Amino acid sequence: MQIETILVRAGLGKDPATGSVSTPIYQSATFAHPRLGESTGYDYSRTANPTRTALEEAVAALEKGAVGVSFSTGMAAITAVFFLFKPGDHLVVSEDLYGGTYRLLNEMFCQYGIEVSYVDTSDSKAIESSVRESTKALFIETPTNPLMKISDLKKSIDIAKRHDLLTIVDNTFMTPYFQQPLVLGADIVVHSATKYLSGHNDVVAGVVVTREESLGEKIRFVQNSAGGILGPQDCWLLLRGLKTLALRMDRHQENAQQIAEWLTRQPEVEQVYYPGLADHPGYETCSQQASGFGGMLSFSVKDKALVPYLLEHLKLITFAESLGGVESLITFPARQTHADIPEEIRNSLGITDQLLRLSVGIEHIDDLIGDFKQTFNQYRSSKEQVLPVK
Ligand SMILES: *Cc1c(COP(=O)(O)O)cnc(C)c1O
Repeated sequence: MQIETILVRAGLGKDPATGSVSTPIYQSATFAHPRLGESTGYDYSRTANPTRTALEEAVAALEKGAVGVSFSTGMAAITAVFFLFKPGDHLVVSEDLYGGTYRLLNEMFCQYGIEVSYVDTSDSKAIESSVRESTKALFIETPTNPLMKISDLKKSIDIAKRHDLLTIVDNTFMTPYFQQPLVLGADIVVHSATKYLSGHNDVVAGVVVTREESLGEKIRFVQNSAGGILGPQDCWLLLRGLKTLALRMDRHQENAQQIAEWLTRQPEVEQVYYPGLADHPGYETCSQQASGFGGMLSFSVKDKALVPYLLEHLKLITFAESLGGVESLITFPARQTHADIPEEIRNSLGITDQLLRLSVGIEHIDDLIGDFKQTFNQYRSSKEQVLPVK
């Protein structure tokens, strides 16, 4: 079955009693036992809930993994994965990383003796040379957030396998519609399902999918023990979002490509970071390992003052954190998503005060570019007005 069909069938026909096409929301904390020593398969909703099962089966099928496990947020999902490690274990992690994951490792897991090296995982030599005796896993984001750097998944997974490391990929930006790391040999995929998987900026959720059953059971054990589960209502919202993922991703990407090209032509723009631009350093690798370039892009402007100007004057594109929803959002990474990363590290990575990140929505492209046009034009005339008269 093609992925478009798998998506539409997410959660279909899960209630034989009524034939309900949409998975019912089993808003029940507990389930009656038929008799002593027997269970319907559901006992208590922290352990399992039928709406959640439908969602978890759907995401496992999408990523072509053995087990899907859902969590209350993307960070809860990532936390569950880091619970696989013990004091003294070392992880190799993409340096240009989601700020929340950086904070989780540097301010929480470091207290429990987990050691981390941040490396440019788009450079496989850098991965190789940071592996130690105690290294247990490689954690990759590709494209990275916000600089859209591409790591070669096959090469990275090969290195991990040679050193007996787990490969964990945060696939939030690409989604299984464009990129399937487990098929390429990764062990674990994590998602902030808040983003494209749900797609409507109306739910916060996370998922983990493992390639093998045994690893999935470990994650499930963490889910039941630590308890950061996704509630039935949110599972249902996510199931509903999934059905249109293919359509949404196609439009996100189409719009992103056009906006990226338009931005490169504006004299105020210093650089555009979008892997679908042929001169992007990761263009070739991304073309090989993914079937698309996604809907996220970042760009830097020459004049710092243009940053607040855009944030305040764009009318259609909303100034808000998060990404992956149908509505276009613009973010200022240095002050928002990546504020927890020390300034000098941020600057050395390129997450400067001139960088903006755009989550391109599915609005009509003319309206999106129109919003930028009117704002750039207004800015240009405001600059002319303050020029000293000669
Ligand atoms: C948003 C995000 C997360 C965190 O997910 P939440 O659902 O906000 O907890 C992790 N990784 C990436 C790449 C993200 O964009």
